[in-house]
Amino acid sequence: MTKMPDMLYRTLSKIGLRVSILGYGASPLGDEFSAADPAESKRAVHYAIDRGINYFDVSPYYGRTLAEARLGEALTGYRQQVILATKAGRYDKSREVGFDFSAQRIARSVEESLARLRTDYIDVFQVHDIEYGRKEQILGETLPAMFKLKKSGKVRFVGITGYPLTMLRDVAEAADVDTILSYCRYNLMDRSMDEILTPLVKEKGIGLINASPLHMRLLSNKGAPDWHPAPKRVVEVGRLVAEFCRSQEVDISDLAMQFVLQHEDVTTTLVGMSKVSHVERNIQAVGVVPDPELLAQVRAMIEPVANVCWKEGRPENDDPGAVEKQS
Ligand code: NAD
Repeated sequence: MTKMPDMLYRTLSKIGLRVSILGYGASPLGDEFSAADPAESKRAVHYAIDRGINYFDVSPYYGRTLAEARLGEALTGYRQQVILATKAGRYDKSREVGFDFSAQRIARSVEESLARLRTDYIDVFQVHDIEYGRKEQILGETLPAMFKLKKSGKVRFVGITGYPLTMLRDVAEAADVDTILSYCRYNLMDRSMDEILTPLVKEKGIGLINASPLHMRLLSNKGAPDWHPAPKRVVEVGRLVAEFCRSQEVDISDLAMQFVLQHEDVTTTLVGMSKVSHVERNIQAVGVVPDPELLAQVRAMIEPVANVCWKEGRPENDDPGAVEKQS
């Protein structure tokens, strides 16, 4: 049997928390990718904790509260061992009624999340997908409401999450956030996070959380789910890269995980997991340097579609050059 590597930890600078470099993304617990087996999900959470993963990320949006409820149940008796991050502001799929960044909703949201997660404090409370809000409201109303909760002790740290890097950067320049969660912007398909966000994060000592290292399953043998927003040509290159890796007897997901986990400025990388086998597999990538030759070959295949980003949120918040989803 292969020996499991030891977990590695980094300090979330501003916060001073010791965080496992591999973090647990709980969106699959809300059946976001496919129906998860609740018993297996619970085993996966416990296995992750046993193996040293101590950062858990969820949101009321995942499975429209299902992921929080399942995670809360699984964490019963383990709460003190983990750093628990959840979010507020995004609740449903509909653009019209799915978002509420008002101060009143934030105050109500934290109470609902505390109940579902069966705890009396949240470690990292984040505004979920700020690009769906107006920048003025996020800065003038939403974040002040979050900071008030921090003062009250219900939440320990305040963060923002989202896809367009320029908006994350602009908001973090103007407000004193503790963490930024960026997704799909630092992995084998897209590395623009380093151009736009990483310098600011280093300068201000903000905790950088990198999510979706598998580009939301595009970098896997199973391939992207139907709802994946990437343009078709990006999905196709992902498929070809996975096929090429298979021909080299390598699982593309292993290479993708090894690659992202090397980033020294990222405090934790969140991968979505609801199966023990995925937790086990992803831990195997910790501290493993990817094969440089294979990496170079894969990067050359990806080059024509590297850093292609799509439109997400309000048009005024899009990154320059963003293309239509699934175009
Ligand atoms: P991901 O890139 O981590 O892909 C997850 C998918 O890959 C799941 O279907 C999972 O079953 C599968 N998988 C995991 N390990 C695998 C392996 N070793 N081999 C093959 N398949 C594997 O995408 P994600 O789940 O969207 O992102 C990770 C987490 O980051 C989320 O669960 C969520 O907690 C967080 N996140 C937050 C935001 C936000 O706040 N806006 C956005 C995206 C993700």
